[in-house]
Amino acid sequence: MTDIFYDVETKELIDTSAPDQDAAIRALTMSVGVTFCDCHDAQTFRATAPLVQCLLAHDRIIGFNIIHFDNTVLAWSPDRPIRDPRDPDTLRVPDSPTELKKLLDQKSFDLLADLETRLGHRVGLAALAEGSLGRQKSASGPQAVVWNRLAVTLRDRWPLALTNVGDTEGAERVNELGAWFQERLEKYCLQDVLLVKKILEYGIVNKRVAYIDFEGERRVVKVQWK
Ligand SMILES: [Zn+2]
Repeated sequence: MTDIFYDVETKELIDTSAPDQDAAIRALTMSVGVTFCDCHDAQTFRATAPLVQCLLAHDRIIGFNIIHFDNTVLAWSPDRPIRDPRDPDTLRVPDSPTELKKLLDQKSFDLLADLETRLGHRVGLAALAEGSLGRQKSASGPQAVVWNRLAVTLRDRWPLALTNVGDTEGAERVNELGAWFQERLEKYCLQDVLLVKKILEYGIVNKRVAYIDFEGERRVVKVQWK
């Protein structure tokens, strides 16, 4: 069985005050998506169509909160692969967002959904990483949103403006800075993907994982992961 791990970052933060949270997630768009699998190693995607295609070419899709969040973002993205009869991967992707979400969900193993069933409440990835691996997350979702905005603006707007006024050195520097923010964003996304992989492996070996609760206590939860 081929497993693929994935995580997406979005261009905007979710509006937590919106009455319909599912609709709020469907309205988000991906800034970057990262996958890791033994067959392809780490891959970075800036468009959803090739990402969806890649995910569906694997037997099991693994992530944290993917059923509620990432799969929804991908399914409601307007971007769809161009169907090529010679390439079976492109034929796998349905046009209907509901159908695509169903297809992604069927193949998904969502660590958060599994833990929520066992615990009766949700846990954060940071709390789980700290409790199980003793590791801190390197950044946060809001940081990723700002980094993406900076990367896009620095890359798309300012180099041209500076070139137009004859400042080529300035244009180069701004481009470099944009690329630096893009790299940080992609590194952070990959780090979360690898964190989920480590937590899954930890759970398989130890038959339990741990998280830090709101009072700072380490709590253990039994799992039957494979
Ligand atoms: Zn692969």
